[in-house]
Amino acid sequence: MNTPAHVLLAVAMAGKPDARGRNTALVAGALFPDITMFFMVGWERWVNGMSLDAIFRDAYFSAFWQEVFAVNNSAPVFALMLVVGIALRADWLWAFGLAALAHALLDLPLHNDDGHPHFWPFTDWIYSSPISYWDPDHYGVQAGWVEAGISMVLAVILLRRFIGIPARLAIVAGLAIELMFSVGGHFIYGEG
Ligand SMILES: [Zn+2]
Repeated sequence: MNTPAHVLLAVAMAGKPDARGRNTALVAGALFPDITMFFMVGWERWVNGMSLDAIFRDAYFSAFWQEVFAVNNSAPVFALMLVVGIALRADWLWAFGLAALAHALLDLPLHNDDGHPHFWPFTDWIYSSPISYWDPDHYGVQAGWVEAGISMVLAVILLRRFIGIPARLAIVAGLAIELMFSVGGHFIYGEG
């Protein structure tokens, strides 16, 4: 899934208006598995001057970046955080683990040739799903529409739960970015 959908889902799962620390941990945990990818894009684009095309064709699949991605897409590590967080009654820890675990488990069935070894460090196995959350050659257009629909439902749930203006602005902004990626990109490239 696209990053904003992961965030909307995480906050919908366990977010509460009066639990700031928990909400922050949910957002951070949902973002965490994608953070190294954003860093990679920035590094290769602005430091090494690569084109975005080359970044997603070559750099993304380099042994170095694949190993970096493995570390922060590890479902077992996130599951451990969730369990230890519950045991210690540490809101921030279980919320972070829950959000990151949900992110990894939802990425698993939605990546075709660009997935991650989600069960690292136990195995380097990478699942190649017939469905991609973005690739038009692997139902990416249809998956984008489904993801957009789910994201709208999640946004409505969140808008009903969070009535503060800043929170509502953040929810609407998150949904707008999500729709731009999940369906907007396919329009721009004339796919689907
Ligand atoms: Zn991801």
